[in-house]
Amino acid sequence: MSKADNSSADAPKDFIREIIQSDLDAGRVEGLVTRFPPEPNGFLHIGHAKSLCLNFGVAEEFGGRCHLRFDDTNPVKEETLYIDAIKKDVSWLGFDWGEHLYYASDNFEQLYTWAVHLIENGKAYVDDLNAEQMREYRGTLKEPGRNSPHRDRSVEENLDLFARMRAGEFANGEKIVRAKIDMAAGNINLRDPAIYRILHETHPRTGDAWCIYPTYDFAHGQSDAIEGITHSLCTLEFEDHRPLYDWFVANLPVTAAPHQYEFSRLSLSHTVLSKRNLKKLVDDNNVNGWDDPRMPTLSGFRRRGYPASAIRTFARQLGFTKSGDSVVEMANLDFFVREALNKSAQRRMAVLDPLKVVIENWPEGEVDWMDAVNNPEDENAGKRKVPFTRELYIERDDFMEDAPKKFFRLSVGREVRFKYGFFVTCTEAIKDENGKVVELRCTYDPETRSGSNPPDGRKVKGTIHWVSAEHAIAAEVRLYDPLFNRPDPGADGDFQDDINPDALTINRSALLEPSLAEAPISEAIQFERLGYFCADPDHTPAAPVFNRTIGLRDSWAKAQKKG
Ligand code: ATP
Ligand code: MG
Repeated sequence: MSKADNSSADAPKDFIREIIQSDLDAGRVEGLVTRFPPEPNGFLHIGHAKSLCLNFGVAEEFGGRCHLRFDDTNPVKEETLYIDAIKKDVSWLGFDWGEHLYYASDNFEQLYTWAVHLIENGKAYVDDLNAEQMREYRGTLKEPGRNSPHRDRSVEENLDLFARMRAGEFANGEKIVRAKIDMAAGNINLRDPAIYRILHETHPRTGDAWCIYPTYDFAHGQSDAIEGITHSLCTLEFEDHRPLYDWFVANLPVTAAPHQYEFSRLSLSHTVLSKRNLKKLVDDNNVNGWDDPRMPTLSGFRRRGYPASAIRTFARQLGFTKSGDSVVEMANLDFFVREALNKSAQRRMAVLDPLKVVIENWPEGEVDWMDAVNNPEDENAGKRKVPFTRELYIERDDFMEDAPKKFFRLSVGREVRFKYGFFVTCTEAIKDENGKVVELRCTYDPETRSGSNPPDGRKVKGTIHWVSAEHAIAAEVRLYDPLFNRPDPGADGDFQDDINPDALTINRSALLEPSLAEAPISEAIQFERLGYFCADPDHTPAAPVFNRTIGLRDSWAKAQKKG
């Protein structure tokens, strides 16, 4: 993520970086200026991470800067809540816009002046057609459009009407300002597109100062120009808008001419990535808010314990192409999450489905504090103490009656190592009236305390995890699977019909080693042999709540294949 990355062998190479390099080499631009331009009408998702890592990434690599600009031109859908969430997510991902925080709404007065400029030059007019009529007049891909009957209003009349629009004399939709370009243009975006519309709405930043607002298309390129953006990077759906942006720049007294380059959008399997659909999931209570850990939002991933570094690494290896949006497997993201967590996550012991173990030759009330390694991948992570006592809990599926030979865990008559603790032999399984095993009676060998082997040279094949019954803390653990039960939700109809009803399972029987009461929120920890988990924002030391971040291996994909 530093400038040095540019020269390193693994620095990404793509057509965008090639263009930037050649523009800088040829002196066509003095320094690189990019921007990330979200519309504050929802939370950021993993697709935005691709754009963020590109825009902020190239700025860092080429010694330029990247602005954060909110394209806040539609007060009907935009909220301060979203502005705050977006800023938090961009920072969390590790990007710093410094003093370069902008809003399209900062430019409203300038944009108004430029609309007046177009009118004065006969290049824009006030129209009375309503939305439906405008659609009719627009024509189709095969047929040219028709001129509006109001297209030839005089400059004076247009100026007067526009001023009166601003003064609030008209209702929503009663008038609209359109650029006067060409109703027969092959590119429909050039068929006299709307540039100003009436919206009697309170804006999150300008309040009630305006009742007319520039369209996204009229604000976007001009905001780039005002900020001196040299390379305006966006996704392919804006390719057809580029001729319009260029038309505005050519016909307005702007001082810079930003070039726009389009790249492929990221789509991810087993989820949806458009804010409209994500908002629907939130509004219909399919999930518990934008930061629900099942959501592909940055705040959802954060809450779930995905490290920002893993998302950056994932985004950085995605390709940038000029055509076709390809679907990336969710498993690809998971790979980078596991890789990062294996290196960084502390290890702890926890039991999700507890089975009681009583060590009969262990003195009542005695506690032996064992040394446990915090992270075998990181020498500096140190050690902690875990209490070994007469009554312990192990994972129910670490015991089996009539176990086959290859079952290297506990069974009556078999011996295993209790991790960081002793060799333990199971002598008896106690059952309830239904025949369910409810307790194991065991013995331990005092000569096998962690680190020592028995003098007779005896070995065990299995090592299992455990918690002390006396010290363990009870927790709620939220287990997540993909939110959709097919890779391409909505491909055969409504995407909400493809929601996986079992994407969240709540486990209320989990028992954790005591140090987990103080676990930092959203920082993933490996529960040994079970997977990665993190304390949820709902967690308190008195009422622990954990999320499963991700399993140790991709067991879900395997189950899907089998099923
Ligand atoms: P959505 O379609 O999800 O609502 P959007 O494009 O409307 O997204 P914006 O807030 O306008 O969202 O996006 C900010 C920037 O992020 C834009 O430059 C856009 O091109 C980029 N972006 C959005 N979605 C993706 C994606 N899936 N992959 C790559 N870049 C994206
Ligand atoms: Mg959009």
